[in-house]
Amino acid sequence: MNSPRVAFLGLGIMGADMARRLLGAGIPLTVYNRNRAKADALASAGAKVVTTAREAASQADVVLCMVADDGASRAMWLGVEGALAGAPQGAIVADCSTLSVGWVKELAHAAEMCGCEFVDAPVTGSKNQAAAGELNFILGGSAAAVEKLRPALGPMSKTITHLGPTGSGALVKLINNFVCGVQVASIAEALAWIEQSGIDRTKALSVLLDGAPGSPLVKVVTSRMIAGDFTPNFMLKLMAKDLSYATKESIVSGRPLATAPAALEVFQRAVDAGHGEKDMSAVVEALRSKG
Ligand code: NAP
Repeated sequence: MNSPRVAFLGLGIMGADMARRLLGAGIPLTVYNRNRAKADALASAGAKVVTTAREAASQADVVLCMVADDGASRAMWLGVEGALAGAPQGAIVADCSTLSVGWVKELAHAAEMCGCEFVDAPVTGSKNQAAAGELNFILGGSAAAVEKLRPALGPMSKTITHLGPTGSGALVKLINNFVCGVQVASIAEALAWIEQSGIDRTKALSVLLDGAPGSPLVKVVTSRMIAGDFTPNFMLKLMAKDLSYATKESIVSGRPLATAPAALEVFQRAVDAGHGEKDMSAVVEALRSKG
């Protein structure tokens, strides 16, 4: 399958740029988004725009989905207008969203009942990596399905790692984002503490950022916290969702996490304060002293 016909469902911050990469590579692309205006924006770049996920999937070899959470994914795949109702027998269907492992396994079973092969295909990297075709895909599914999916992922990816059977990609993505969420919550608390202390902020931060705690993620989010630029790359409410899924999955796995629920509490405070649709770096806003 050298140039598969692809259907892309979900054209948010990530999905729109991922779909543009496919169009740029000359892959025949049909798109669907709940809010039609986002799909129309891709028509001039060559995408065929349709009005249901079912219609999008109906002439595709590969169906990809990139939406907010389990509920959105369920809405895209299931039901009379869902993609599985339209996908041809033998199609490869993959969800790139960050989802719970339980839903991914349920979805894989539903796909199999429709004669399709499912791969969980979440990504690491953010908006800039999506636009540059430098996402890291982490896959769960059969080796045969992964090989059939590979040509469609090529224009969007820097790396493609097959981790194991269905659910492996979803699980490692949740573990990855729980570690990220804990880092972001802790640097937000640290920054708010430094600001309240009266110590020179630039000097204090250089101790942290040039030292051991200065991971690439911590450096990027701290620069946004300092600039007060919370234009969303990765929405704060989605990190809260990931920490919630990771916490629940850790309980299912019999090894409950201690740090993920603590980080979730910090993110939830920011959601409750109205920062959910801003970049996740806005988590610091709910911690900063007002006076
Ligand atoms: P986003 O900009 O908020 O886009 C969300 C998408 O989901 C939109 O297309 C939205 O459609 C759709 N959606 C939400 N609820 C829906 C529903 N009930 N039915 C149908 N469609 C629904 O989010 P994003 O940043 O692109 O993230 C997408 C996924 O990638 C998430 O799972 C996120 O955790 C993951 N992720 C994000 C990043 C990042 O840096 N942004 C990085 C890696 C992974 P409408 O346009 O109609 O609202």
